[in-house]
Amino acid sequence: MILPGSMLGVLGGGQLGLMFSLSAKRMGFKTTVVDPDPDAPAFSIADRKIIGSYSDPELLADLTASCHAVTTEFENVPADSLAVLEQALTVRPSSHSVATCQDRILEKSFLRDNGFPTAPFLTLPGESSPADFKLHPLLPGILKASREGYDGKGQWSVSSYEELSRILINTTGPFVLEKRLDLQAEYSIVLARSHDGEMAFYPVAENIHESGILHISAVPADIPLELSELIKKTAANIANRLDYVGVLSVEFFLGKEGGLYVNELAPRPHNSGHYTIDACQSSQFDQHVRVLTGIPLARTDLLSPCAMGNLLGHLWTDQSPPDLQGILEHPSAKLYLYGKKHARPGRKMGHFTVFGTHVTEAKLHARNLLSRLSGNPMNHESPDFQFTASRKNNLSPPAEKT
Ligand code: ADP
Ligand code: MG
Repeated sequence: MILPGSMLGVLGGGQLGLMFSLSAKRMGFKTTVVDPDPDAPAFSIADRKIIGSYSDPELLADLTASCHAVTTEFENVPADSLAVLEQALTVRPSSHSVATCQDRILEKSFLRDNGFPTAPFLTLPGESSPADFKLHPLLPGILKASREGYDGKGQWSVSSYEELSRILINTTGPFVLEKRLDLQAEYSIVLARSHDGEMAFYPVAENIHESGILHISAVPADIPLELSELIKKTAANIANRLDYVGVLSVEFFLGKEGGLYVNELAPRPHNSGHYTIDACQSSQFDQHVRVLTGIPLARTDLLSPCAMGNLLGHLWTDQSPPDLQGILEHPSAKLYLYGKKHARPGRKMGHFTVFGTHVTEAKLHARNLLSRLSGNPMNHESPDFQFTASRKNNLSPPAEKT
């Protein structure tokens, strides 16, 4: 067991790195945060900050010499860098797990090869010529860049073969082409799996997305016990199959016809699990610290139904936050602002968690609080934000981390 007082390294200084560092510090650990962006939110509380590239050999040597264990806040760090660190340090999740989850082709193939249900898909290598593939049954579909996509970035909605051909001619792959499912709802579950295979599960969250970005998560999802058990069992089987060590999040689709599909895996705490900070006996970030250091898992019991609302960059005007009075004055809402210097449409600037006696009430509070935030109409209409519409031709490219 790595004890409090030890130095924990975290690759990535966004909001997830920030919340991980807060849990680590509360438990008496020190943190070294690495991020290429000098304004990364987690730098504000890191014991040591390193501004640099995740693949810089000197930086990796420094981490090896100065940290007792290293983790990552997001899946897009180079898995090769984690493999280098792994030779000398405890690294959780492993480079192998991150490599599988950071590449949609590997991820989908892993799921299919192990019998987990996914939306029908085909993988399209870099040099794809549409004529090479029997793509018609997958249309209308969603073309997804294999790497670096998140929050709907790197995705194109394609309804015809001609549209798909145009994109494939003009854009370099590799891609996954997925059939667009008629969705009834979306769910996610966050679990923690320790090095000896022990697991702890948080309750299933119902997720409401807008333009491909998470808008509201409501917990516990108001679903039959059989469905939540199926979600839990499927996620547990995935974690076991990957021999995963760390906090893992699994996103699910519920089709209109009643079928449950695995959408994607996140090898880290998840936006839909932020509610665990306030509404569970231990948070997803506490568990992340525990798994990394070998401290036994804590209880995950939900203390109250709740809902989380995301505060996205389009709500900011000239880099100023919206009027947050409604959230601040609400007696059961807790506000989190990540301290990001620059707001951009779709960028995650903060969130709030609000409680209710039933999840329906909590969800209603979240909707009301979000609708009171006016937002900047100009930003809202920007092509970046309106990517559901712009997906018709080209979604915002996979770019910098929001
Ligand atoms: P990201 O990595 O950006 O979260 P996802 O694959 O999870 O990418 O897609 C983002 C959102 O887009 C999903 O939560 C869902 O709302 C919608 N979506 C993605 N794939 C499909 C699909 N095959 N059918 C229907 N909706 C989809
Ligand atoms: Mg997703």
